[in-house]
Amino acid sequence: MICPSCRKENNEENLFCANCGNKLKGDTETQTSIITVTSEIVNSQNQIFTKIKQAFNKKYIWGAIIAISLIVIGIFSFKQYNTTLQEN
Ligand SMILES: [Zn+2]
Repeated sequence: MICPSCRKENNEENLFCANCGNKLKGDTETQTSIITVTSEIVNSQNQIFTKIKQAFNKKYIWGAIIAISLIVIGIFSFKQYNTTLQEN
């Protein structure tokens, strides 16, 4: 494997770099793999969040349209009810 510190090729069994003595296996490898997995999870979560947001925005817009139309219908029918009362 290649040393992450000095980029020198080392044997796969080597725990430490033959050139600079940097630790080849263990913490750094686990940390990088954890970071990769975490970033992948974060990316997938972000994708899910954007999809949810997009769906929510669409539903919110439709909900707002329905609410506004209900209010308009309510005002309209109330006015008509008032005019019919005044006519009678
Ligand atoms: Zn090295």
